[in-house]
Amino acid sequence: MSPNNQQQRKKLRAAKLCLGSLRFNRPHIEALVSQMEITMKTENDVFPVISDKQIAAGSGQRNLYCPECGCINTHVEAPYLKIGDSWHGNGEVAITPLWSECGSKWEVCIGFHKGDAPIFVRVNESCKSK
Ligand SMILES: [Zn+2]
Repeated sequence: MSPNNQQQRKKLRAAKLCLGSLRFNRPHIEALVSQMEITMKTENDVFPVISDKQIAAGSGQRNLYCPECGCINTHVEAPYLKIGDSWHGNGEVAITPLWSECGSKWEVCIGFHKGDAPIFVRVNESCKSK
């Protein structure tokens, strides 16, 4: 399934949740979705932002790099739990915001629902757009 189809299905599911017990047919729901402009951030693989090598041999620690340019200087902000976030899954998301000295602002997200804990990266501001 293409990312666009997944995103469309997610939008439809979110719209159905918003509409609760009201009964609408698919064209009505699709029209409402386009009006609501439910946006879901692009979710990226976490592996490219993790350094290949440990910070010190045997430390078990790896660095996080800017997902856009690989800048090695990244800072962490206070993590939080978000309920009702729009992502490719159900349930809450634990979000750790980060910013890199290149200018990117991004977040490492861990969703959780029924024993699944998918981890992904979302870019809020790209250093490449500055
Ligand atoms: Zn960058």
